Amino acid sequence: MSVPDASLVVSDLHVQFGAFVAVHDVSFDAHPGEVRFLIGPNGAGKTTCIDAITGLSKGTGTARFGDKELLGSPAQKIVRLGVGRTFQTASVFAQLSVLQNLDIAAGLRRSPVSLLRARRGVDASVERALEETGLGTVRDLPAGMLSHGQKQWLEIGMLLVQDAKVLLLDEPVAGMSQDERTATGELLGRVAANRVVVVVEHDMDFMRSFATRVTVLHQGRVLSEGSVAEIQADPRVQEVYLGT
Ligand code: ADP
Repeated sequence: MSVPDASLVVSDLHVQFGAFVAVHDVSFDAHPGEVRFLIGPNGAGKTTCIDAITGLSKGTGTARFGDKELLGSPAQKIVRLGVGRTFQTASVFAQLSVLQNLDIAAGLRRSPVSLLRARRGVDASVERALEETGLGTVRDLPAGMLSHGQKQWLEIGMLLVQDAKVLLLDEPVAGMSQDERTATGELLGRVAANRVVVVVEHDMDFMRSFATRVTVLHQGRVLSEGSVAEIQADPRVQEVYLGT
């Protein structure tokens, strides 16, 4: 069920690099309870949309999370507002254990005072993230020894312990085995139950299996939007993307 106050609403997002317009007035919204996909061929503007929403690229238009406007805010402030993202290459501390990675991320959320008060032991949010991501059995392994899929799940876990309410995931299943893709789809379903999840993806099988709503971008514009069945039936989508 959608909860309007906890939704991400992007309207007329426009991003330009010099004279080149990478994103032309793109609008989409995403609500807790759905797994929202942004798809499109290479260069369609998917990552640029996420970069603009998270303060890494300058964009015009609006991107509201609840009653907060994100565009124009510095990236760190956007993180503090509860909007987190992952990158195509997972950025975890390879020498530190899974637990230590999560603990560092949880520390970013805590105030210095609560850090001083924190008793030794594992933060409850870290325990929850280990359970939610299925990484409990590898909690003491150095993150560098994890599989590609497990590293992506750790990154998602790091967003969860920071209390992210919006997760923007850039090609989370690239390079994953089929089993890892399925596990990732199931994880996203659990995470999305009470958070906004937007997945930028190339992988059509993954999209078909796990998307609840899809926006198709092409050459920086919204080409189509709807359920998986609706966008697959759209001849414009078949022509530029699915038909290949
Ligand atoms: P996608 O994620 O859909 O593959 P991108 O958002 O990465 O597409 O890129 C959209 C377009 O914007 C591409 O043509 C890309 O070359 C261009 N682009 C992305 N970032 C920059 C940048 N920093 N400077 C100039 N052009 C860029």
